[in-house]
Amino acid sequence: MALLPIRKYGDPVLRAKAKTVEEFDETLKTLAGDMIETMIAAEGIGLAAPQVGYSICLIVVERGLIEDGEEPAAYVNPLILEKYGEKTTMEEGCLSVPGITEDVTREANIRLRYQDLAGNTFEEECHDTLARVIMHEVDHLHGNFFTDYLGPMKLRLLSKKLNALQFEAQKDLIELRKMGVA
Ligand SMILES: [Zn+2]
Repeated sequence: MALLPIRKYGDPVLRAKAKTVEEFDETLKTLAGDMIETMIAAEGIGLAAPQVGYSICLIVVERGLIEDGEEPAAYVNPLILEKYGEKTTMEEGCLSVPGITEDVTREANIRLRYQDLAGNTFEEECHDTLARVIMHEVDHLHGNFFTDYLGPMKLRLLSKKLNALQFEAQKDLIELRKMGVA
């Protein structure tokens, strides 16, 4: 198990469209394990593979933070089949956008199709916080951020912070390339 460097807003991998996972091998299991460890160490509730530099359709969710007794879970090739129910607004943050939290409005429920790390396919109804976290993480697989939902006024107010993050992301990338990681 290893902690992986978290890519920041401005890193191009976070704007790329993630590839479908086709090989359900040890490499995938190791990556999912490392992502769970990285998410927990960073006190996050969810993490998508592009956030640690892998442009593939894999997300992890710390379900224990949502419901007592639940274990962290990995979802491979998650596909939101349907979003339904009333919309709710909640403050969201993101490990790739540190220092910024904003209200985001999303549907309360989703119907999700996904695969586990062995490649078995499941369909599940997710509600409330779990649905929100999964929608946030699946957005990352499409190259989107929660900040993309904000209006132009809000974005203008955040532009200094976002520009600073982009600058940091570029510096991080130079370091990661030196280490041969990126
Ligand atoms: Zn995020």
